[in-house]
Amino acid sequence: MVLKIAKILRIDLETKNIDYEDYTDEDEMNLIGGMGLATAIFTREVDPEIDPFDGNNLLIFSVGPFCGTAIPFCGRFFITAKSPLTKILGEASSGGFFGKTLKSTGYDLVIIKGKSQSPVYLWINDGVVEIKDASELWGKGTQETDEKIKELLGNDKIIVATIGPAGENLVKYACIINDKHHAAGRCGMGAVMGSKNLKAIAVHSTGKVPVQDKDKVNNAAKELRELLKKSALGMVIADSGTPVHIDSMYSVGDVIIKNYTEGRWIGIKKIGAKAIKARGEVKKHGCFNCPTACRGFVEYEGEWVTRPEYETLSMLGSNLLVNDLEALIKWNLIVNDLGLDSISLGAVIGCFLESIERKLIDVNLDEFGFTEENIWGAIGPIEKLFTKIAYREGIGDDLAEGVRSFCNVKGLPEELSMHGKGLEVPAHEPRANNLTALDYATTPRGAYHCYEPMHLSSYMNQKEEIGLTEQVDRFGTGDDVAEAVIKIQDASEAYSACGGCIFGFWFIHKLTPWINGLNGITGRAYTVDDFMKAGQKIVKMKRIFNVKCGITKADDNFGKRFYTPLEKGGSKRNIPPLEGLLEKYYQIRKWDAQGKPI
Ligand code: SF4
Repeated sequence: MVLKIAKILRIDLETKNIDYEDYTDEDEMNLIGGMGLATAIFTREVDPEIDPFDGNNLLIFSVGPFCGTAIPFCGRFFITAKSPLTKILGEASSGGFFGKTLKSTGYDLVIIKGKSQSPVYLWINDGVVEIKDASELWGKGTQETDEKIKELLGNDKIIVATIGPAGENLVKYACIINDKHHAAGRCGMGAVMGSKNLKAIAVHSTGKVPVQDKDKVNNAAKELRELLKKSALGMVIADSGTPVHIDSMYSVGDVIIKNYTEGRWIGIKKIGAKAIKARGEVKKHGCFNCPTACRGFVEYEGEWVTRPEYETLSMLGSNLLVNDLEALIKWNLIVNDLGLDSISLGAVIGCFLESIERKLIDVNLDEFGFTEENIWGAIGPIEKLFTKIAYREGIGDDLAEGVRSFCNVKGLPEELSMHGKGLEVPAHEPRANNLTALDYATTPRGAYHCYEPMHLSSYMNQKEEIGLTEQVDRFGTGDDVAEAVIKIQDASEAYSACGGCIFGFWFIHKLTPWINGLNGITGRAYTVDDFMKAGQKIVKMKRIFNVKCGITKADDNFGKRFYTPLEKGGSKRNIPPLEGLLEKYYQIRKWDAQGKPI
């Protein structure tokens, strides 16, 4: 038997109408499901010219076929909407237990349209859906909102995805926090939620996710777990979590330092995994059905709190020259509670600090506590900026618009505007790897790191089944760079549509067991070729939408600063030859000279 139906829940917050739909389009079902199906529906139903805060912008929560099954690393969910930050198709994804629970309620996609007149939250309880008043939740941080919803509904097993004040105030890089400490961070999906007056989605289910062939799924899951045991990278991440990236990737120049201007920094040793372990016990935890459990809790002021991840440690730490681990642990809590994307936040503040230091803007330093000698690494003043941004107070109002807008409004030099398609550049230095550079320039949502070729093809993760058999030199300039980036992007899009955590895909090099699992769940007969074609089609749909939003070759780029080499560190003297790499990339993708799919 073949699983041909996707269950869709459509909610109009303006009319309060709730519809249920069985989705059976054969072509679009070949897009695997989850984010793939969300992309097909979004790109067909949303006008590319729409204002992201218009009620007709769709906000789609999706869960893929892996979600909630025995396949490991299967707890992800995706959010798709037109991004207020980039003004093109925006996406974010997150782990935890929200995705699994949503899937268990029976829905694959929740499509939210319209704007409510007053604050509301959604309550999805084993297939029963209600739109509930959120007046008493509006204005609260993500942590209190989560607790309050459980109290209101009288059930502490409920899983909540919510926005904080940043989302309510339409900060363009507001995120959505689920399970209290997982963030769907990028592209301002929290602001789209806020624009709809939607404070939160609460889910609960006692149901199980059905699969077509249980034995096939269990066998695939067993093989994946066996392969994971052989992954050196998997073992390292299981032991130390993502902060180990500070310790292991600093020497190759991947870590961001001082607003992308330095290749070396003496303070780095104080903020990595070794420093965290030396500080005290780290209690491991993970997302649903994850054998790696890369996340951690640390003790802070007498409580066990979530440990910052690598991106936060780098963007709020080394990027701002902050080497105080206690401050970074505290900031992680503050930023999550406000509902801000720590990557964009760090990039925006880095730009602000540099513009103060170089006297490019007129700022009352006393207002924050900065002095001319105390700008970079100034803990108290930087901390003040978080709430100013989340509540759009003073200069925080300009900073809340993102780095591209801030530089434009303040007339700052282009080299300070560190973004790709409006999305702030994450904590992986593109000058350290030409594959990362090309990926940043071409991924559909803008400068984005999760398909990061730095790991995938340079030296760790050859995937023979798609022809990635050789290591690609990270400073390479040949055709193999574009070829590898395209294969990785296509495979990663297909895998993400399945609902898998990208770490699992990095750790396990073989594709077949993942696809066997997918076939066991759906009753379909995907081959490696089908899987790659689905990924390719998802990339193409996103690109066509973005082209209709006005994206051209000129946007397939990133900060001007990356055209000046660093003089020190593991990436010194490399400038990614983007022009040549793009030409080859377009050729292989069959896009024209302006990057438009033919
Ligand atoms: S590897 Fe980490 S982020 Fe991925 S599913 Fe496991 S715990 Fe979650």
